[in-house]
Amino acid sequence: MSSTATAAPKRVLLAAPRGYCAGVDRAVETVERALDLHGAPVYVRKEIVHNKHVVEELTKRGAIFVEQETEVPEGEMVVFSAHGVAPAVHENAAARRLRTIDATCPLVTKVHVEARRFAEDGYTIVMIGHEGHEEVEGTTGEAPDSIVLVQTVEEVAELEVPDSERLAFITQTTLSVDETAEIIAALRAKFPAIVSPKSDDICYATTNRQIAVKQLARECDLVLVIGSTNSSNSNRLVEVAREHGADSYLIDNHLQVDEAWLEGIETVGITSGASAPEELVERLVAFFRERGADDISELRTVDEDVRFMLPGEIREELAASGA
Ligand code: SF4
Repeated sequence: MSSTATAAPKRVLLAAPRGYCAGVDRAVETVERALDLHGAPVYVRKEIVHNKHVVEELTKRGAIFVEQETEVPEGEMVVFSAHGVAPAVHENAAARRLRTIDATCPLVTKVHVEARRFAEDGYTIVMIGHEGHEEVEGTTGEAPDSIVLVQTVEEVAELEVPDSERLAFITQTTLSVDETAEIIAALRAKFPAIVSPKSDDICYATTNRQIAVKQLARECDLVLVIGSTNSSNSNRLVEVAREHGADSYLIDNHLQVDEAWLEGIETVGITSGASAPEELVERLVAFFRERGADDISELRTVDEDVRFMLPGEIREELAASGA
């Protein structure tokens, strides 16, 4: 990174939709409300959403982030993150008499429910997702003996299952829509009887942000994606932008813009992952404005109006407190 500002795109194009999805909005507000209602500390298992800035801001307000529920002192309050948890986590929390608030995104819960139902009906479940991702760990925990993880088309070729007539698939919510379609096509070709959930598991926010970034990439030389390195949907946006003709980089904030990326760039596109706050986008736009960008506009592809209610535990407390 250089401090001598020279290269300066004149045009900035913002993807719409971008940034916070309904599940992230709900999860962040859950921790904020829990802090308002109970005061610090409020423990949070894992990053509430995969964004460094969000975690830092909530930490300043008194949230304590832990890796496991077993690190939370007995009897204290703990919030479970938007990515969901395995049933064993609830059991551990109950054993420690923790007061729990579950901020799992309802669209992740939907996949958990599918996993349970397929398993109860005797299906082997192929989960398409990324190994080690918290959401995959949580969903797999619903039926660990029935779920097998697949990450690529190549892995489908090697996949062996006990009964190809009793086979289902589910997916992580934040995957690449196009790559996942290829994996599903490979599964259907190899196992024609495989069944799927009634509706897609890749969520509306992931899908819409990928549609928007495809359009953006066609109009820009460079696409900057604001998001943290552990954010699955943000990483997918970089990949999709590159596949559609633009250079693209993932950055936490404007301080990570590399001067070399801007050489010869006429139009820079900006988007943000589903866990990235809009204020980081605003700062990046201000960064380009200060350098002479004078044509700043939005490229709207899809309208979104999804909202989720806060978790029941918080709603009950708010009602009781008269807030
Ligand atoms: S990205 Fe999708 S599944 Fe994940 S929190 Fe947002 S809406 Fe829910």
